[in-house]
Formats: sequence, structure tokens, C-alpha cells
Amino acid sequence: MKRRDFVKYLSLSVPLFTCGCSHSWQSYFIKDNKPENETTQLEDIGAPAAPPEKQIITDATDTKTKSLHFDQDFSDDIFCKESDRQLLEQLVEKFRAVQRYVGNGNFNLLGMDEFFLYSRYAPRTEAVTKREKLYLEKLFSFDAKIYGFYGEKNFQSITENIRKNTTVKIPHTGHFLRKGQSFETYNKIRKDIGNTIILTSGVRGLAKQFHLFLEKAFISEGNLSKASRSLAPPGYSFHGQNDFDIGKVGFGLNNFNDEFANTREFKILSDLGYVDIRYKEKNLLGVRFEPWHIKI
Ligand SMILES: [Zn+2]
Repeated sequence: MKRRDFVKYLSLSVPLFTCGCSHSWQSYFIKDNKPENETTQLEDIGAPAAPPEKQIITDATDTKTKSLHFDQDFSDDIFCKESDRQLLEQLVEKFRAVQRYVGNGNFNLLGMDEFFLYSRYAPRTEAVTKREKLYLEKLFSFDAKIYGFYGEKNFQSITENIRKNTTVKIPHTGHFLRKGQSFETYNKIRKDIGNTIILTSGVRGLAKQFHLFLEKAFISEGNLSKASRSLAPPGYSFHGQNDFDIGKVGFGLNNFNDEFANTREFKILSDLGYVDIRYKEKNLLGVRFEPWHIKI
């Protein structure tokens, strides 16, 4: 069966992408006899110390300095345990495989149970193991303040899904926006500024946020604090609610660095009062400056 046909088949056989309640079909999570809201302890995740071979560049510990130099290593950063590094790498590979399998658009709205299910069928990978699931659960229930991230958590459970019927697909972007205020704001921005503005990321479910976070942690050699300065940890992203990112057509990766703030598009956005940035320059939330992120 071809990938698209298979995804269609599953969408018909289980309420994928249409129902927000995770209990309506089998959950693939392991409860491991743990109380629902128990938070993960630091020693389960890592340690506030870099591996011996790692050179620490900056010793500052204040949040503003960290958000300004978000892509550096700091002396009190939390690093993934050495014994979990391979797990991190395997998970990154499995998220990539499932994303290829379901397609970038569908992957944006994927819940974690769906991710586990698809990992069984995606080519060139293996199903997510019990140990990997437990690791993801530990990461989800870890208090992100310990990384140095002070934003609020807006997913209460790792099995929480985005209801597809609350979203609208934005043509030619591969992304979705929430119906209502998000969709209206995006259309108004395009009307006021023109079609040189484009949606670069909309609603994101937990699988997408996990994937982005783990990719960043992986390329940061296991530095989870550094990952959390670029991206909200899984469960903490406002892309799970109504926020979205915009960019300038043809501006490529510069849409995701400070260059975007120098564009004509950003200046007009600012003049028209659209810019109520969630993650401001030198902010106290422990996150980098994100002029492209529209707060709803
Ligand atoms: Zn954003």
C-alpha cells in the first residue's frame, strides 16, 4: 500500500486528526504505575554540567544574557545524560522517518500516540521502543524552569491532540492555523502588507514540538538548556494554541534569525501595531528574540 493510501486508510479506521480526545482509541503510552502528574527529577534527565570534553564559552547565569546569547553554552546548562545520548539520536531518526512518511503538513498536527503508531509502519526505521517512550514521558513531565525556560506549560497531558476541525490549512505553506482569531489575523496581515508575507509555522502538535526540540538538543550535543533557549520544550509551545510564525517570501533561513527584524515587512508590521512579540529581545523567559513569532 502506498504511503498516502495507508494514511487515508488509518484516518478512516481510527479517528486520526479528527478527534481531540486521546481516550477514544487505544493509547500506546506506558503508564508505568506512575501517578499522572508526577514531575520528573533532574537526575532522571541529566546533570547541570557539561561533559568533560565540552568547552564552556560563557559563565553568565542571568536570564537576559542567556536569551541574548542563546546559542552558546553556559556553565549551569543541563546536559542529557551520557547514557541517554544514543536514545536521543534514535528518537531524532524516528521522528524524521515518521515526518517523511506522513508528510510535512500532516506531521504538524500529529499527536504522540499517532507518532508511535506510524513509527511501526514508516520505512527505514523501527517502532518506538518502551525505553524510548519512557524517556519521552520523562522529558514531557520535566519542569522546564530547571532548563532555564520560564514560559508557561499549555499541554497538560502527553496524549493531548490538536483537533483538526479547529484548524484550517493555509494553501502553499504546508501549515495550519487555528480557525478564528489566528486565521483572521493572518489574513489581515497579508491584506495590509501584501503577499510577500507568508506563514512559516502554524499550529504544532506534540510530535512536531518534540521533534524540533530533540533535533536542537541533538545538534547541541545533548545540551537541553540550549535547545530550550531556541524552542519551547514539548508541552510549553504556544504553537499548540494560537500563535504562529511569519516570514518574508524568498528570505529562507533569514526568516528565523534577527535579519527578519530588518525587513520592510517587519517595519510595516511594527508600524501597524501587529508586533506584540511573545519572546522579546533580552527577555526574562529564557528564550531567544523572535520577531517573526506572532502572539495571539
Ligand atoms: Zn514561533
